[in-house]
Amino acid sequence: MLLRLQKGLADRQLAAVLELARGLGYQSRFLDLERELVRLDGPGAPDHRSLFEDLAGVRTVLDAGEALERHERAGRPDRVVKVAEARFGGGDLSLIAGPCAVEDGARLIEIAREAREQGATLLRGGAFKPRTSPYSFQGLGRRGLDLLSRVRAEVGLGIVTEVLETREVEHVAEIADMIQIGARSMHSSPLLLEVGRTGKPVLLKRGFGSTVREFLLAAEFLLSTGNESIVLCERGVRGFDSVTRNLLDVGAVAYLKQATHLPVIIDPSHAAGRADLVRAVARAGVAAGADGLIVEVNPHPEEAHSDGAQAISIPELGRIVEDTRALAGLDGRRFVQPQIVGLTA
Ligand code: PEP
Ligand code: MN
Repeated sequence: MLLRLQKGLADRQLAAVLELARGLGYQSRFLDLERELVRLDGPGAPDHRSLFEDLAGVRTVLDAGEALERHERAGRPDRVVKVAEARFGGGDLSLIAGPCAVEDGARLIEIAREAREQGATLLRGGAFKPRTSPYSFQGLGRRGLDLLSRVRAEVGLGIVTEVLETREVEHVAEIADMIQIGARSMHSSPLLLEVGRTGKPVLLKRGFGSTVREFLLAAEFLLSTGNESIVLCERGVRGFDSVTRNLLDVGAVAYLKQATHLPVIIDPSHAAGRADLVRAVARAGVAAGADGLIVEVNPHPEEAHSDGAQAISIPELGRIVEDTRALAGLDGRRFVQPQIVGLTA
């Protein structure tokens, strides 16, 4: 590992750095006369980089060397995350589609069937909704989970649904094939750990004000539990213009594909915030290298209690699938189709 220390370090601070290094089994060697660059030779472990970064005397970890964090690409091939029929990573792209929130059983079945016919392998729908106002619709809660599990049995689509708090993790894990941690919860380490420990695949969304490093460290919390079925989701960061709801960070998608072996998908719905722009934003994200998409779809958006303005129609979902398949094909990747389409008839 290579550390750059603060300039003019007090003896106490320097001693703390060297003491930590010795305690972890490293040999330290200064590389310059100013004693600012220090090389550590030793075991390397995923937690060591952060331990040094947290010391007041350390300006930056220039090279983590052997002390790799679990999310780091470090020459590893893509981790392929399989959830029901979906596969993310390793050249496979899958589509998660469904309404923003679970509202009505019959409507949910209709959307699930139609989304599957268009190529979705997973159904999304929130039973617990993170809302900006306490007076907005907060989701149906456990009743919503029951509806999701019924649709799963009837339509044969795996379920992706969000959990907001640790005490609901067990209930959500019972019915979800993939547990979503939303943008607002990305920084909640107790929730990350609790969800990670279920061993279920996790869809981790980037906070709208979070750096890429913070996003990767949130994934690291999940990975630290031994759960490796993690899919990252870029859903747009906050910009200064209200024309779109958020800004899909396509640069971050391309960067993440280099920096981590975990699959990365995009959410063009929450990025655009308006149905007429979702398709274009989806194309951009897939072209940047995304391993799939999560899209809000609703044939009756005017009745939705949340995010109706960004819900696309079923035919528009079909067009996004066509675009995705074509774009994926350009660089030798594949769109994963539901296997038994007849099941939905
Ligand atoms: C959602 O997926 O409905 C949602 C609330 O997303 P985000 O956490 O990205 O805002
Ligand atoms: Mn939504």
